[in-house]
Amino acid sequence: MMRSARVAPSQGRSPNVNASKGEWRARCDACGESYVLADWLALAMVTHVAPSWLDSHLTGWKPDELVEVRRCSKCGTSLARLRRVEQAP
Ligand SMILES: [Zn+2]
Repeated sequence: MMRSARVAPSQGRSPNVNASKGEWRARCDACGESYVLADWLALAMVTHVAPSWLDSHLTGWKPDELVEVRRCSKCGTSLARLRRVEQAP
């Protein structure tokens, strides 16, 4: 007897896979250069503020957000941006 227990695969049910692609941007206030996340991560890191430090100094800080300061590759200005860290597996 045939059983029809197979369920059709649902397409596009993984919202996390491409969620960050092209959405997050950092724009340099000095020269106007715009960076997507991949480009931002390639910039020289000046400093960063860890979520644990922020959480201990600021009420209600989200544990998956951190502040990064990176140097604009065009004009050299230091850019501080808030970024959400992907959840660790
Ligand atoms: Zn710049």
